[in-house]
Amino acid sequence: MSYKSLPKVELHLHLEGGAPPAFIRNLAQEKHIDISGIFDERGNYLYRDFDHFLKVYEAACTTLTGPEEFRRLTLAVLEQSAENGVVYSETFLSPDFCGGGDVQAWRDYLAAIEDAAAEAERTMGITLKGIITCIRHFGPEQAKTAALCAAETKGDFITGFGMAGAELVGRPGDYAYSFDMAREAGLRITCHAGEWGDAAMVADTLRDLSPERIGHGINAIQDLALVDRIAEAGVVLEVCPGSNVFLGAVPSWKEHPIARLQERGVKVTVSTDDPPFFNTTMAREFDMLAETFGWEEEQLRMLNDVALEAAFCDEATKERIARRLLA
Ligand SMILES: [Zn+2]
Repeated sequence: MSYKSLPKVELHLHLEGGAPPAFIRNLAQEKHIDISGIFDERGNYLYRDFDHFLKVYEAACTTLTGPEEFRRLTLAVLEQSAENGVVYSETFLSPDFCGGGDVQAWRDYLAAIEDAAAEAERTMGITLKGIITCIRHFGPEQAKTAALCAAETKGDFITGFGMAGAELVGRPGDYAYSFDMAREAGLRITCHAGEWGDAAMVADTLRDLSPERIGHGINAIQDLALVDRIAEAGVVLEVCPGSNVFLGAVPSWKEHPIARLQERGVKVTVSTDDPPFFNTTMAREFDMLAETFGWEEEQLRMLNDVALEAAFCDEATKERIARRLLA
C-alpha cells in the first residue's frame, strides 16, 4: 500500500536540492560544464557526508546560470512533487545562487520562478510559495543581502525568510540583524536548527531569531523541558525523517524522534528537504511513517492539516488547498 496519491502539503524543500540529477546532467552537457565527479555510475548524486553534500550541491548549482535555468528547474522540481501527491509546496529560494545576492538580479530570477510556478499551477495543479533563505556558512554579512532581497520582494509569492546551510557555523544571534530586517518587512520566519546542532542550538535559535517554525528541530528531543516549551509555544517543526536517516543525523527510521515529539504535544510536519539527494519523495516519507510507526491514513492527513495551518501563505490560498486535501 502506498500513499503516493494522497494529497500532501510540504513546507521544507530547497529548490536546487530538488533538482533531478538527470536535469542537472543535461544542463551541464548543454553548457559544457564538467561536473561528472558529483554523480555515481548510475547517475545519482554522490557524496561522502554532510559537508561534502553541500559541496556537491553547490557544484550542481553551477549549471544553474541564469533565470531561464531556474524557470526550467522549478518546473522539473514541481513535476516530481506533483507526481508524489504534493498539492502545496513551500520552497526555499536562495538569492546567493540567483545572481549572488544582488536585488536587481534576484528580481529577474524570481520573475522566472514565479512564471514557472504559474505554469505548474495550471498544468499540474500544484501551488508553490517561496521562502527566501540566507546560507549560514556564507556568514552574517552575506546573509544581509539575502534578507534585503527578501524584504524587497515580499508579496503574495515570497512569504517567508529563513536560514539554511551548515548549521554549526556561528551562533543564531550572529544573524539576528537579517532576521529582524525580514520580520520588519512582514515576512514570516523559519530557521534550520537542531539537525546537526544540539538542543541548545534550538533553544538559542528560538531565543535570538524567534521563528514560528524550525527546520528539523529533532535534536530538541535531548532536552524534554525544551520540547515542552516548543509544544506550549506552538512552534512547528519541519521534520524531514528520510533526510535525517540518509545523512546519518538519526541512525534509523525506528529511532527517529518524530513520533516521540508528536506524542509530547509538538506540532510536527513532514517534508523531503532535498529529495533526489536523499533518495526520497513525499510519497516515500508517508509510506515509511506508516510502515515504521504504524501511522494510518488519518494520522498522515493530520500532518497535512498541521502543515497547512503553519503555511506562510494567505488565507484564501489556505482555504483552496484545504478543499483539495479532502480528496
Ligand atoms: Zn533543509
